[in-house]
Amino acid sequence: MDSLRKTLRRIDGRGYRAYRDLQGTFTFTDYSLSVLHVQGDPFAAPSRVEVRIPFDWLDLNSIDPLHPDRRVGVEDALLRALAGALDQTGGRRGSGRSGQWSLVRLGQEMLPRTACELSAEALTVRLNCGLPASGRTVLGRQAEAMFFEELPWLVTEGLLDSDLETLRRHADAHQDQEVLRRAVAERGWVAFVADASCLPRRSGVDDRPFDRGAVPFLAPAELAQTVALPNAGPIRGAAFDRGVTLICGGGYHGKSTLLRTVERGIYNHVPGDGRELCATVEGAVHVRAEDGRAVRGVDISAFISALPDGRDTTRFTTDNASGSTSQAANIVEAVELGATALLIDEDTSATNFMVRDRRMQELVQTADEPITPFIDRARELHDRLGVSSILAVGGSGDTFDVADRVIVMRRYVAEVATDRVRAICDAFPSNRLTEHRAPLQPPDPRRPRPDSLDARAGNRGERVRTHRTDVITFGEHEIDISALAQCVDPGQARTLGDWLLWCSRQLVDGERPMAELCALIALKLRTQPLSSTCAAGFGDRVGCRPIELGFALNRLRSLEVDPR
Ligand code: ADP
Ligand code: MG
Repeated sequence: MDSLRKTLRRIDGRGYRAYRDLQGTFTFTDYSLSVLHVQGDPFAAPSRVEVRIPFDWLDLNSIDPLHPDRRVGVEDALLRALAGALDQTGGRRGSGRSGQWSLVRLGQEMLPRTACELSAEALTVRLNCGLPASGRTVLGRQAEAMFFEELPWLVTEGLLDSDLETLRRHADAHQDQEVLRRAVAERGWVAFVADASCLPRRSGVDDRPFDRGAVPFLAPAELAQTVALPNAGPIRGAAFDRGVTLICGGGYHGKSTLLRTVERGIYNHVPGDGRELCATVEGAVHVRAEDGRAVRGVDISAFISALPDGRDTTRFTTDNASGSTSQAANIVEAVELGATALLIDEDTSATNFMVRDRRMQELVQTADEPITPFIDRARELHDRLGVSSILAVGGSGDTFDVADRVIVMRRYVAEVATDRVRAICDAFPSNRLTEHRAPLQPPDPRRPRPDSLDARAGNRGERVRTHRTDVITFGEHEIDISALAQCVDPGQARTLGDWLLWCSRQLVDGERPMAELCALIALKLRTQPLSSTCAAGFGDRVGCRPIELGFALNRLRSLEVDPR
């Protein structure tokens, strides 16, 4: 403490570079403070500090904070409490970001974040601060106020004294969702949506619950199941079985909203979100058309063969995929990486990829049509490869023939229409010809070549940057990840950037297939905190599924792969 104070007094009034002398660790009464990175000037990315509070100081034992199903909930609540305290602090004290404390953005999910990690030894919190300056002159006294008045107050108010009941609620909710997700997998379902859940969101850019009279979800009797949770007790809801499920209904009646809830059910949500009793198996992957994307050596021949230009679709490579070829590649890659369910919305699909009706089959004969539509593979995907699908469709009843069950959304209310659909199929046969070619095979693993991952940008060394959840700049390449609908937090994109760098430096050796790269990361995350897989000393990384690394890697335009 004293050495920090002395340094600040000594450098007061000097050039901004003098702040470099702060790097190091200082012992305060309740915590230690490490200055990890000092910004180059007041307008640069802020400085980064780490606060470590010994576990025993926190007095959290009554809420069982280290329980593997509860820990992230506690971390999440602590971070939100700290963010609340931070909002009450002063703000600017000079040029640029002078005097401001800041934290990673917090969305509706409870996720592992490098901003807050709890272990049996300590609570580690990583936040940013703008070291105060006037022009480029160090404002030592202002910095002293930040470190000796504000930070101790933040630690006390936001962390040490944060409301235990709130922490407990987040831990309980987190635990319930973990237990629920395991129950979903164990009972052979893909997803579970509890009664009274609030599905719609405020807007396309605001993920908070819709606040003007949402129709609460109610499970139709045919799908209703009960799951006993450790904190919420027994809850009733709709269980989405494995197999092929259709969500039908009129336009604007809530199909996409239900499907999106299932997509997001891979995450745990904060209490009050409306989706905190909805859970989906981890292997459920949103798949869409993504024309323009690059594809590298993917065997899409199960869906697309005999292209007019003679191009090989068993090792399909393109810099500019079409709607249908991109969707085919997205599906094959997802299955290769271990997806257990595909979530597909007609709104974002290539129509000709999903289905071809009888009349079109008559006009364009199978011999001249490269595409085997998805509905002709949906059954095999499930029956042969164990990959379920949930499709939101309002346009084509030809999908009825392959469905195990059909849900109809009517004025935001779910009904089961499987029997009605069977009767309709008998009364109005589609007369479609099933467009089978060879039986569906599991995708072959692809092995990325090490020299095709290069994070260097010219002679400036390695460079990885991210922009929101849209782009990862990796060396000289831009990876477009905007189609990864389940990558929802900018901090997850940063994590993916770190994992890609780890791949290029170490993991990709020319032998390991894609799925193994993801598995290595998953393995490490089972026993180590998120920060151990990310660039050191950053508080803005957020956990995501290892499978997303595979999806990002697949979109790297320099990627080259070898078949097994
Ligand atoms: P569809 O895919 O069937 O065309 P959407 O799921 O896109 O319909 O929903 C249309 C609109 O209705 C959206 O603005 C959505 O937020 C809203 N909405 C969806 N579900 C509900 C609900 N349960 N209560 C109120 N509004 C809802
Ligand atoms: Mg829709």
